[in-house]
Amino acid sequence: MTSAQVLNTRLAAAQPSATYRMMDRAALRKVAGHPVISLTAGEPDFDTPLHVREAGIAAIGAGHTRYTPVAGLRALREAVAAKYQRENGLDVAWQDTIVCSGGKQVLYNALAATLNEGDEVIIPSPYWVSYPEMVQICGGVSVIVACDAATGFKLTPAALEAAITPRTKWLILNSPSNPTGAVYSREELEALGRALLAHPHVLILSDDIYEHLIFDGAAFCTLAQAVPALRERTLTMNGVSKAYAMTGWRIGFGTGPRWLLEAMEKLQGQQTSGACSISQHAAVAALNGPKDFIAQSRAQFQRRRDLLVAQLNQAPGLRCETPAGAFYAFVSCAGLIGRRSAGGALLDSDEAVAVALLEEANVGVVHGSAFGLAHHLRFAYAIGEAPLQQAGAAVRDFCALAGPA
Ligand code: PLP
Repeated sequence: MTSAQVLNTRLAAAQPSATYRMMDRAALRKVAGHPVISLTAGEPDFDTPLHVREAGIAAIGAGHTRYTPVAGLRALREAVAAKYQRENGLDVAWQDTIVCSGGKQVLYNALAATLNEGDEVIIPSPYWVSYPEMVQICGGVSVIVACDAATGFKLTPAALEAAITPRTKWLILNSPSNPTGAVYSREELEALGRALLAHPHVLILSDDIYEHLIFDGAAFCTLAQAVPALRERTLTMNGVSKAYAMTGWRIGFGTGPRWLLEAMEKLQGQQTSGACSISQHAAVAALNGPKDFIAQSRAQFQRRRDLLVAQLNQAPGLRCETPAGAFYAFVSCAGLIGRRSAGGALLDSDEAVAVALLEEANVGVVHGSAFGLAHHLRFAYAIGEAPLQQAGAAVRDFCALAGPA
């Protein structure tokens, strides 16, 4: 029996995560004894704030170790509703929320609950690697809309209009963006909203997971806030993973129309049930507790961003705009394509550049084509300033030494 005979055809056609592939490759090289600095991982390097960890421990001590309601503990759903009110100006009742095992499950539940074979999902590119694969697994068709550096890697109303068809079911928006760090302003969201108002059959998934990682004093805005008339067909998704350095706790949440939340709950009830009870208690402490951690980590990420961008822009062949949010720099490596590295590798694609950077400069990054835009590299700067400085210098040397093919 072969896997082709038994596997679900939609799953068989999906790709494993390119981010994990490059992370694994960098980790393997490190284990083999090379001094690798990995800028591949999409998670904060900070520890979860102490009071949140203590809330998790207290939950175990208090015996909160049983199943919870599928859509989440009432206390967490109330904390989520309060968060949307406080931080996003959205008037949300706790019944208008759902808690899932990570932001990823919010997205997956929404797509799986709604997509029928052939339904289209508009995904602006560069995109987070999991969107098209989730769409594929759920039987949908991704409609990738290229957004290049000229528009700050952002979707324009005209490009959106051109992509909408009668089969469009969802538009996925992600701001701040993984992998580009692009942030949509309120005005840009209003302009997209005006286009969407003319197409009432389109649902919108707003992935706000990097909400708090926004720099230079800019204010975050989410679509349902900018265009309240779209609220009845918008799923506003978020979680504690990036804001509170809680990637391993697996708590995500969302607010949206009740018919959609009910369908997601039905699906989750037959799949994972409620999220981990201990993590839910910790997430209550995160959402209801002090917020100084957020300001501190934002300041640190901004310093790292400035340091990395300055270094990369000194590397011949690379070009990097300053990203407005998240903890990624999406860097053009077009100037290296067609050249040969000092170690003899032909740099004929962004993937070849990423592999040569790892093998010759011991710096792990992810190639842009994995995110839908070739001739780019994604640098995740969720590491300390000293190794970041070192990685930047190694990348500069690598680029300076590259010669003609
Ligand atoms: N959305 C984007 C854009 C992400 O980058 C990630 C994680 O990397 C997620 C969602 C998922 O977050 P979580 O870890 O809460 O599942």
